[in-house]
Amino acid sequence: MAEKKTGKKFVQKPKFRNEKKYKTDKTEVKKYNTFGKKKAEKKIVVKSEKSLCPVHGKCGGCQLLDMPYEKQLKQKQKQVNKLLKPYCNTEKIIGMENPFHYRNKVHAVFGHRKDGTVISGIYQQGTHFIVPVDECLIEDKRADAIIRDIRDLLKSFKIKTYNEDTGYGLFRHVLVRTGHHSGQVMVVLVLGSPILPSKNNFVKALRKLHPEITTIILNVNNQKTSMILGEKETVLYGKGYIEDELCGHIFRISSKSFYQVNTVQTEKLYTKAIELASLTGKERVIDAYCGIGTIGLIASDKAKEVISVELNPDAVKDAIVNAKRNGIKNVRFYQNDAGVFMRQMADEGESADVVFMDPPRSGSDEKFLSSVVTLNPKRVVYVSCDPTTLARDLKYLTKHGYSAVTAVPVDMFPATEHVETVCCLHRVNS
Ligand code: SAH
Repeated sequence: MAEKKTGKKFVQKPKFRNEKKYKTDKTEVKKYNTFGKKKAEKKIVVKSEKSLCPVHGKCGGCQLLDMPYEKQLKQKQKQVNKLLKPYCNTEKIIGMENPFHYRNKVHAVFGHRKDGTVISGIYQQGTHFIVPVDECLIEDKRADAIIRDIRDLLKSFKIKTYNEDTGYGLFRHVLVRTGHHSGQVMVVLVLGSPILPSKNNFVKALRKLHPEITTIILNVNNQKTSMILGEKETVLYGKGYIEDELCGHIFRISSKSFYQVNTVQTEKLYTKAIELASLTGKERVIDAYCGIGTIGLIASDKAKEVISVELNPDAVKDAIVNAKRNGIKNVRFYQNDAGVFMRQMADEGESADVVFMDPPRSGSDEKFLSSVVTLNPKRVVYVSCDPTTLARDLKYLTKHGYSAVTAVPVDMFPATEHVETVCCLHRVNS
């Protein structure tokens, strides 16, 4: 389907006179105006002929890939400025020195063509059509090489790929996580059923090709779902997790835990977030939506105590180990919905001096935000991966006793439209 939409017939040179071209980031909207008569408008998505990537416009991933990096940064800056203008000034965006191959987590879906050739790549948005990807300009190169070699191994081991529509077949996805500083590599093989034929030889062959792999996990996902990973996992090789370093701390990351995909920028983001919290060593800090404990653990030596909350049980397990691993004793972890947990704290008359909050793209909810207001911290440091939901949540907080002091966008996702922002709020009457 994707090939049809973006295939050759749309890449050809324009034939009409008086053709107007309106170039956007990745698409061209053409109006054909022949002989002075306006014809029906055609909106055509074309693969940019000069794109840096052969599947640009097909995979739907890097909307800004062909835009010069400085211009990408300007566009993101403008977007954040505009959305946050009613609340605070936005500082200069923190860009990346080398904005390529930054993704430490790489996912590939597996399938086959009609002739049986195994392919791997990414689903075209909203479909089960696989856009084949050999290498990607934003993904870790080692991960891409591993995925290409797994594709060849499937052929030699005669392992069938899974068909998303019929539910037949075995091999569904590969997820590779790499430790930017540690160099450790995790490979998760996701199957539709638990038995991988010639399992030991497969693992041996993969490790021979890629001795840099430190752990291999077999994950079973037998559901018809858009989720990549299923519940059940067995470790085929290594420890079942990787470790990486972030702001001088070691973190264990398991397959289902959240970990920021751009390590270089994450260090800048967390450093900025902790700086904005102006900790003195006396504060009671809450780290909400804490994942594997990163922000709270890194901030812990500047605070009296840290209370961290996270919904994902696997991430909480990692977080508890991470505290021990780094010899940190003043952080406690709770596995709960952040809103429910904060409401409980507020109802029990607890208080906090600083709240870090780092919710998913959908932002926070009123239960959480109203509890923040009840807990009455002096400062709130909001780390957001979507400035639209950040602006929405700022609207609530600024109506309820807080004022936004500053916001700093951080480009965590070069070549894409996404932008991270850290925003600091102060209690008005403090
Ligand atoms: N602060 C961490 C994680 C941020 S991502 C880091 O920087 O690595 C957002 C996290 O919120 C994820 O770990 C996700 O599992 C968690 N999450 C999502 N919904 C939640 C909820 N309702 N309550 C608590 N945590 C939630």
